[in-house]
Amino acid sequence: MSSKMHIDKILNSLEEMSPGQNEFYQATQEVLLSLLPLLESDSRYEEYNILERIIVPERSIIFRVTWIDDSGKVQTNFGYRVQFNSAIGPYKGGLRFHPSVNLGIMKFLGFEQIFKNALTGLQIGGGKGGSNFDPKGKSDNEVMRFCQAFMSELYKHIGKHKDVPAGDIGVGAREIGYLFGQYKKLTGEFDGILTGKGLNWGGSKARKEATGYGSVYFAENFLNKYDKSLQDKKCAVSGSGNVAIYTIEKLYDLGAIPISCSDSKGTIYHKNGIDLSALKAVKEIHHGSLEEYASLSCECEYIPLNKYPKDGHAVWHLPCDIAFPSATQNELTLSDIKALHKNGCILVNEGANMPTTPDALEYIKSNKILFSPGKAANAGGVATSQLEMSQNASMSQWSFEEVDIQLRGIMSNIFKTAYETSVEFECEGDLVSGANIAGFRKVADSMIEQGAV
Ligand code: NDP
Repeated sequence: MSSKMHIDKILNSLEEMSPGQNEFYQATQEVLLSLLPLLESDSRYEEYNILERIIVPERSIIFRVTWIDDSGKVQTNFGYRVQFNSAIGPYKGGLRFHPSVNLGIMKFLGFEQIFKNALTGLQIGGGKGGSNFDPKGKSDNEVMRFCQAFMSELYKHIGKHKDVPAGDIGVGAREIGYLFGQYKKLTGEFDGILTGKGLNWGGSKARKEATGYGSVYFAENFLNKYDKSLQDKKCAVSGSGNVAIYTIEKLYDLGAIPISCSDSKGTIYHKNGIDLSALKAVKEIHHGSLEEYASLSCECEYIPLNKYPKDGHAVWHLPCDIAFPSATQNELTLSDIKALHKNGCILVNEGANMPTTPDALEYIKSNKILFSPGKAANAGGVATSQLEMSQNASMSQWSFEEVDIQLRGIMSNIFKTAYETSVEFECEGDLVSGANIAGFRKVADSMIEQGAV
């Protein structure tokens, strides 16, 4: 059987085995199809049934989370932890609290995490977890009671040499604090079982900034390769959470002009540059919406959600040189990429996980727009989480500068690995293939060496 037929067979059976898990299927399809040149050049992966094995999580844990709301009523949510692959190290990956969370989303994120973690060059396996709980509109006490209930089950499955979760959408410093407190109460142990911890109790400096900073460092490496730079580039950023805020901060540091941000209600267009301190005040301190930012800053334009193009998003219809999708999956569609291209955008740099739809990605490829896939460009967060684990193991805390220098070096190595792999497989600059092949090869070779387990 040819390698292409082998991939098609696996994808067909995956569709049957996981009905309705569209995002998981989308992520798997993208990875497997890009592996074709590797599979054609090395028959071991087929011989050892690596594709059949790598698409199945080692363990998927689904549990009930019951908690009491402020009116005294019992509420119920689903909790998940998908421990996808531990071939190169303990499972590592964030927790997402968002109403859209289901098993398919957890599996897509866990699957992507395997290759992302491998690309960092660090010893970390892939996992992901979360809940369909929505922290928005809940009181602090409700969030605390939910986190305590969630950890009351999760603690049985994690450990510093086993599985070390972190934050993701809806899980920031507050949630990590409540989760850690409950873990300590249940086990009586002060262990580094979560990353993204507070700086007073085992957290790493620059972890909060790491994904956004790392995404911009990655873009810088990519542009430099083609004798371009970030200087004076107008950058459209989506989202206004952790990744977006620190992408905007680093863009300013490196001389670019971030002109937008967005949330689930609307988009801010600030032609002369986003007011970062206003954004941090609204999002990090008041946990408000961007409508509030618009009321603070009179120079900007606020485009509410209902004014979005029918099949696209206002943020990608603004004139810009570079796009930094930093909100969520499938947020950049075919109509969006066409508008970006028309407006002269030269690079799409994914800060979020899988924000680009498959048809938009096809358009990017056929029009030779530079493209940084999320699993490479947003790997700075998980890499710095691993630095947090190293600091915990040695009971030390490094300076902000020390962590930032390491982060910059790691992002540069990730770019180099993805780029050089693209050259090795004769698709120079196709970083989707470069990143997927490099990450897969490391994990698959480890699986072969460890036998049929
Ligand atoms: P946050 O929760 O801090 O922020 C998410 C932002 O995206 C918010 O502005 C939110 O708006 C917006 N958003 C979320 N879902 C939707 C939606 N369905 N439609 C429109 N807007 C939406 O999350 P992060 O910044 O941490 O994560 C952003 C992305 O980056 C995710 O894809 C995540 O998986 C990825 N990522 C994060 C890492 C990290 O270290 N935090 C590491 C690697 C990847 P609103 O507040 O209105 O909901």
